[in-house]
Amino acid sequence: MAAAQLTLLWAVCLLPGPLALPLPPDAANMSQLQRKQAQDYLEKFYSGDSKTKEISSLAAKLKEMQNFFGLPLTGKLNPHIMEIMQKPRCGVPDVLKYSLFPNKLKWLSKDITYRIVSYTSDLSRRTVDKIVEKAFSMWHEQIPLNFRRVRMGPADIIISFETKDHGDGSPFDGPGNAVAHAFGPGPGLGGDVHFDNDEYWTVSNEIGINFLYAAVHELGHSLGLSHSSVPDAVMYPTYENGDEANLKLSEDDIKGIQKLY
Ligand SMILES: [Zn+2]
Ligand SMILES: [Zn+2]
Repeated sequence: MAAAQLTLLWAVCLLPGPLALPLPPDAANMSQLQRKQAQDYLEKFYSGDSKTKEISSLAAKLKEMQNFFGLPLTGKLNPHIMEIMQKPRCGVPDVLKYSLFPNKLKWLSKDITYRIVSYTSDLSRRTVDKIVEKAFSMWHEQIPLNFRRVRMGPADIIISFETKDHGDGSPFDGPGNAVAHAFGPGPGLGGDVHFDNDEYWTVSNEIGINFLYAAVHELGHSLGLSHSSVPDAVMYPTYENGDEANLKLSEDDIKGIQKLY
């Protein structure tokens, strides 16, 4: 039952709104492609203000996005917004309708198992294993939860590399934009993490998508955190590649996870 609800929430979050919605007037000087990109982005990552009846107005979604990123609430597209929309990011929407859900999803057991069921050809298996272990340990340092890897059979958190439509109602989009997503704690798909195998995964801070940065962020979702609008938080929705040595949980991430566990 809970698994069905989880899947449903996911589907509801990403269900495209009605198509051909009117765009804000100042989008007129943007190229058709840019406008289409903006429309797709907002429909994918923003739910619209559910308190009003204008659930699917693009201007309302745009305001939600501006609110999330701490920008003036103009409801209008501009080059700065377009720039944010081009960045590689997590595929989980920024505004989740948690009202559909029991509040504060979390793991009830202190011992959580995980299993890596598929790999990318960009990195060695050993590297992927080590990075996933490191990502878990960064969260483990802050909360009384233990993470144990299993190599076969069931596990709480299943980690895999997938492409395009991979059976969970949230198809990946090829290279760029959404690069990974994860489900909040729960049975079945709950806690699972999917990385888009159409990305170029690296341990570098210059090219491709840094796997450690992405893994720490996605495991935050697996443990029950949603996106943070604090720019230096690991749970910020866009990915900035940086030096792995500098990657640490921000105060905001730590406050969030310690509140849950
Ligand atoms: Zn995310
Ligand atoms: Zn998926």
